[in-house]
Amino acid sequence: MRTHQYRDIICDTCTCRHLSADDIFEEVRKMEPKIGRATVYRNIECMAEQWLLRRFPGINGKTYYECNDATHAHLVDEKTGIFCDFPMENIAVKGIPEWYKVSEIRIQITRDI
Ligand SMILES: [Zn+2]
Repeated sequence: MRTHQYRDIICDTCTCRHLSADDIFEEVRKMEPKIGRATVYRNIECMAEQWLLRRFPGINGKTYYECNDATHAHLVDEKTGIFCDFPMENIAVKGIPEWYKVSEIRIQITRDI
């Protein structure tokens, strides 16, 4: 598999952005016009399995990807489909029994106006 060949391009494409596989394919194709959709998708999935890309559910059931592996929440504008990172320090989670340890929290805050 030629994952290593495209890994840097895909990571550069996703840096500070939240993109669907189709978005990533369109961006990578600008730099590698002959690349096939299946190759990009295969690389994306391989990178997600290796935790080089983080997968998360977007709007309308679409899966999105990003390179930011720090724990954070997303602010989502449903009209534009734009995601913004939101620091977890700004979110208070209350009522968790003390014998539980928070290992991961996924929060998406949707703007609907
Ligand atoms: Zn994010």
